[in-house]
Amino acid sequence: MKAIPYGRQFISEEDKEAVLKALTSDFLTQGPEITKFENAFADYIGAKYAVAVSNGTAALHLSALALNVKEGDRIITTPITFAASANCVLYCGGSVEFADIDETTYTIDIKKVEQLLESKPIGYYKGIIPVDMAGQPVNTEGLRNLANKYNLWIIEDACHAPGGYFFDSNNVKQNCGNGHFADLSIFSFHPVKHIATGEGGMITTNRKDLYEKLLLLRTHGITKNPELLHKNDGDWYYEMQELGYNYRITDIQCALGTSQLKRADNGLKRRQEIAKKYNEAFKCISITTPEINDYDYHAFHLYVVLTENRKELYDYLRKNQIYSQVHYIPVHLQPYYQKLGWKKGDFPVAENYYDRCLSLPMFPSMTDEEQNYVIEKILEFFK
Ligand SMILES: *Cc1c(COP(=O)(O)O)cnc(C)c1O
Repeated sequence: MKAIPYGRQFISEEDKEAVLKALTSDFLTQGPEITKFENAFADYIGAKYAVAVSNGTAALHLSALALNVKEGDRIITTPITFAASANCVLYCGGSVEFADIDETTYTIDIKKVEQLLESKPIGYYKGIIPVDMAGQPVNTEGLRNLANKYNLWIIEDACHAPGGYFFDSNNVKQNCGNGHFADLSIFSFHPVKHIATGEGGMITTNRKDLYEKLLLLRTHGITKNPELLHKNDGDWYYEMQELGYNYRITDIQCALGTSQLKRADNGLKRRQEIAKKYNEAFKCISITTPEINDYDYHAFHLYVVLTENRKELYDYLRKNQIYSQVHYIPVHLQPYYQKLGWKKGDFPVAENYYDRCLSLPMFPSMTDEEQNYVIEKILEFFK
């Protein structure tokens, strides 16, 4: 059997045709495929607006810029995430505060967030960046209540959760990233994520003001929109109105994204099926599996187990051609963040999680045979 990675993209014949079509069209970038992908993605998520960008990190950076993050601003995020969720604040000159994670969901602990907020005057913190860790929808409704009380904005890092949802306190279904509770939500289309475009990212929102600002910032802060120009010297005329970037995505990538998006629901169902089978297979061994009441709501970007024998299990699986992964090394323990003053012991729940977590192979094109083999090796290890 071939080596089994923890995540892998799937490219269909239809995907290849879509890319070839884009390659032979008039536009390689800044053409119609971008809006097409944006509209399809906004529809899928149930948000009003979507802005496609070059990658998930660019989506975070642009989101922070659109919300005016600047020197002196303090933002709260989780230590258990990819570093980019915190870095985007530093890019803008702001600083990051962490709130420890919840023991069972591994997402930011809302009680810890509240404690932080209560300990300072209103206005001390400007925003919060929660993460739908592993595909588990974070409680954006609860965070929105805090945000309203303490005058904060919310950027939901939904990279792990396209298709995930929860029912809010009014029993209304809320898709991750739908713009109902968060001001902005961001996604990544890196090959290990649900939808692959090579590199790629998306920002969703229901706020028109932010949507328009993001469009400007994505492309140098330059506009040709006659409604926005201060004057108009002629058809060539454009204005640079903000200090923006080139964070554009290509038509080639968006054609692939639109084609991949058509299979997103099937891929998600397959992820949930794989998670369920793992959960059932590991019932009688001593590892902690995700606590799931309903497999439907969880987007299962990752299938994370906790074990005291993490290193031994990782090595054992590797020896057997199974490449599990660790998500994540707590951001505050990265040398760069330690230089900023964080240290071991600051967030014990996150650190304890890190000592034991392991992400097992999880991707829609994983065959039953592959999963059975992974299960067999894990049961063998615990025998
Ligand atoms: C993948 C990921 C990112 C960054 O996305 P890129 O497209 O790789 O820049 C940010 N946050 C989380 C939680 C991610 O998983």
